[in-house]
Amino acid sequence: MGSTKTKRYGCTKCGTPFEIDPPDDLHATASRNVKECEARGDVKMEYTCKNCGTINIVYWCRRTKFPACYA
Ligand SMILES: [Zn+2]
Repeated sequence: MGSTKTKRYGCTKCGTPFEIDPPDDLHATASRNVKECEARGDVKMEYTCKNCGTINIVYWCRRTKFPACYA
């Protein structure tokens, strides 16, 4: 399977499933919690639905295994 941590989501408008890949190894956790992710400075990625054209926003969070690194 390799190391790709592809996430599957559904379009927020029409429900069409799509897959989105993490930008790098540091950001391996996907989230749609906008407020939380904006506050953390997570990586924002946009995916345009092939079916309806809606832009779905997914955030990629830094790994949380080493909380000391957050300082
Ligand atoms: Zn859609």
